[in-house]
Amino acid sequence: MLLGALEAGGTKMVMAVGNEYGEILMQSSIPTETPDLTMNRIINYFSDKKIAALGVGSFGPVDLDRNSKSYGFITSTPKKSWVNYNLLETLKALQIPIGFDTDVNASVLGEATWGCLKDLSSGVYITIGTGIGAGVMINGNLLHGMLHPEVGHMLLTRHEKDDYSGICPYHPNCFEGLASGPSIEMRWGRKAIDLQDHPEVWELEAFYIAQGLVNIILTYSPHRIILGGGVMHQKQLFPMIRSQVLRLLNGYIKTPQLTNPDEYIVPASLKDNQGILGCLELAKRELLLDR
Ligand code: ADP
Ligand code: ZN
Repeated sequence: MLLGALEAGGTKMVMAVGNEYGEILMQSSIPTETPDLTMNRIINYFSDKKIAALGVGSFGPVDLDRNSKSYGFITSTPKKSWVNYNLLETLKALQIPIGFDTDVNASVLGEATWGCLKDLSSGVYITIGTGIGAGVMINGNLLHGMLHPEVGHMLLTRHEKDDYSGICPYHPNCFEGLASGPSIEMRWGRKAIDLQDHPEVWELEAFYIAQGLVNIILTYSPHRIILGGGVMHQKQLFPMIRSQVLRLLNGYIKTPQLTNPDEYIVPASLKDNQGILGCLELAKRELLLDR
């Protein structure tokens, strides 16, 4: 059975055709321009692929409430032409069942189905890239709630030596404002990738990421945390984050997972395909619901 996957991102749209076994058969990507231009290309791509269902993991915020009038809308994005855009309605031109969730929920689902959350009932996938966001799986279900978790905007305690104002227009000291890729670049005045040999950059970065993780551990209590996104290509961050997390928890939580932090806080396991694979699974689940 052929399934379609669309990872709808703020900079690019990744489209793939695969199957229910998590095999990707073809994949292509286009830049995210205006909805008119971009959506036509997406519909053209999928229209002759004989897919039985489509799974969409979208940038957002998005409305995930099936009972809401704006279900399937991208709501308040900084990308002006996509504000209040009815993504799902446009895709209905394909006349197939469409599963819809956030990009990060698709990633946590990909890892839960085929990756390093396979045998666990709960887990969190966090992307640290252009933005910061997290997909949360609890008892095998993707967490939605009132809107969906907006982990990137949790408030953090600023480092006493950090006087950078933060990049978020809403909050002076949120996770994304202080620790996203663009915030690193604004604070230090260089591309993040060119700061590799400056340990102070990554120590400060780990200080903020660890605070974010501690809050997630204390609220969702996941069995494992996966860190993905462009910034996490700096692999030296992992040991720094693990030790800072333990320092901040200060011995309060005693679980087998925390005694083995190398297996608790881990990199994404699906070669950066966790999102697109999660979209295939979203498609499969929607098809089962539809029957
Ligand atoms: P997006 O979040 O847009 O999907 P990415 O996850 O690739 O895309 O994140 C892009 C951000 O990650 C950029 O802001 C860039 O600064 C940062 N980034 C990309 N590659 C690296 C790297 N090797 N080291 C550090 N930062 C990186
Ligand atoms: Zn914010």
